[in-house]
Amino acid sequence: MTILLKRKIKNFSLTVLLGGALIFGVPALERATAPPELVAKAAKGQMSLSVFNVGQGDSILAQEGDKQILIDGGPNGAVLERLGNAMPAGDREIELVILTHPHSDHVNGLAQVLARYKVDRIMATDVTVQLASFRTWRELIAEDKIPVDDPQKIKTELVGDMEYNVLSAGTQAGIRGSEHDGNSDGLNDSSIVGMLKFGQKRFLLMGDATTVVENKLIAAGTDLKADFLKVGHHGSNYSTGEKIIEAVSPAYAATSVGAKNSYGNPAWRVMQLVKNRGIVGYRTDENGTVAAVTDGNSLQVSPERIK
Ligand SMILES: [Zn+2]
Repeated sequence: MTILLKRKIKNFSLTVLLGGALIFGVPALERATAPPELVAKAAKGQMSLSVFNVGQGDSILAQEGDKQILIDGGPNGAVLERLGNAMPAGDREIELVILTHPHSDHVNGLAQVLARYKVDRIMATDVTVQLASFRTWRELIAEDKIPVDDPQKIKTELVGDMEYNVLSAGTQAGIRGSEHDGNSDGLNDSSIVGMLKFGQKRFLLMGDATTVVENKLIAAGTDLKADFLKVGHHGSNYSTGEKIIEAVSPAYAATSVGAKNSYGNPAWRVMQLVKNRGIVGYRTDENGTVAAVTDGNSLQVSPERIK
């Protein structure tokens, strides 16, 4: 009985390993130790952008060779494993970390990243919150004397050939006087919204900004055209109006959202809007990490799994 059971288990593992090898096209042994998570592999001269599957939250890594820009860290330490898989072995340095806004589903993971990686530079607004992880984040920045760029003053960040342009960013003073954005504390609309560029390819990263910010950007005549859209605010109904979809007109859209989250994200309306416009839409709860690779001219986007 024991022998039979062992053999069964052995056969089962073998099937899993072979399956892994067939699906992922890598040696089975490698998969026996590493989880079958998609890692965007970019060759020399290419950039990868991964919208990590971190549950209900946001964490996005842009990487060119051994240079990284990490935008938000998700709600917990899941980002550490994602970074470990995505970054070159032995690379413990992240060139730029951007905190779009200090809600827990964006800052919690970043506090853990600061504790484990050498971070060269940070971009963050002056918005503060009463949150343990946010206190840790601030303490670690002070301890390590990491320079912090204020998006009100610095509008462009360059890391290797990656260029990040600030399109919108709030302030503490602005939040006090702001019309609320449907999420009661006004923090979402303080999100740093940015356009990441690599060669001819453009990635619009909305943070949790709502239609209030979207409409301001459109009214200001901001060039919002992008190949890839990180959908705002986890696909909630407060974000992603028809006008911005029209202005951005992306080929791909990724929504970072946790399975069976209590907010009811993403909104059916938003998902339908993406679909009806013929945009290839992925969501991290169903597709896992969504990875884009570009050489500056062409763009390939692939999810960890097809639903
Ligand atoms: Zn959020």
